[in-house]
Amino acid sequence: MTLKEMISQCKRIVFFGGAGVSTESGIPDFRSEDGLYRQKYDVSPETMLSDGYFYSHTEDFYRFYRDKMLPLWAKPNAAHKKLAEWEREGKLLAVVTQNIDGLHQAAGSKRVYELHGSVHRNTCLKCGKKYSAEYIARSEGIPRCECGGLIKPDVVLYGEPLDGETVQGAVRAISEADMLIVAGTSLTVYPAAGFVEYFNGKYLVLINRDPTPLDGRCDLVLHEKVGEVLGGL
Ligand code: NAD
Repeated sequence: MTLKEMISQCKRIVFFGGAGVSTESGIPDFRSEDGLYRQKYDVSPETMLSDGYFYSHTEDFYRFYRDKMLPLWAKPNAAHKKLAEWEREGKLLAVVTQNIDGLHQAAGSKRVYELHGSVHRNTCLKCGKKYSAEYIARSEGIPRCECGGLIKPDVVLYGEPLDGETVQGAVRAISEADMLIVAGTSLTVYPAAGFVEYFNGKYLVLINRDPTPLDGRCDLVLHEKVGEVLGGL
């Protein structure tokens, strides 16, 4: 059966995506050939994106973060747009994403569970005031609140737990889905990768350029670009 036929039979689709969903928008993923982890740094990206590093080397954290994690120029691609269209048509229950770039909302998606948070929310650790991603991008050195407090992006750093409500919503959506499309994720970052286990529906589909540990369990596997596949439907 083709992807198109499967989709025509389903009306509670959930999309579970990772960094590969945004590579066609020009944002590098982490583990591909040209991903961030293959570039050379004195300190590994995993260390720089950890909570320990944020508090102990705040200025260095922000230098890396502004340089690599804030692609505010990026625009939604055909995958983001198609998912927003399905939600408007009442075919898609939710998007569950490991991405922090906000491109699903930029494309018009409303129900988006951002397991790893978003660069678009930033909070003063002293008074709780909220700041935009643009404010962080424009700041120099360590971004400070007007009260003097340190501002932290609401992204889940290595070593931090996921947000409970977001996890609950994502798990509920996946367990209610009749079709789960997993795309653009190496399925190596836990606990997010384990969420697929809650799926109980009809069709499990994987769209990922490279093989993943899930390939053998899917009803359909496409080793293609997710924007091209969804855009071509
Ligand atoms: P990953 O880098 O581990 O894996 C990305 C996967 O996507 C790879 O298997 C690759 O083959 C595939 N891929 C790349 N481009 C693709 C395309 N156009 N179509 C289909 N498949 C494609 O990414 P991950 O599993 O999401 O884990 C990395 C972590 O890094 C996540 O937790 C995420 O939060 C974070 N991250 C986010 C962004 C972002 O917000 N855009 C970018 C980089 C990393």
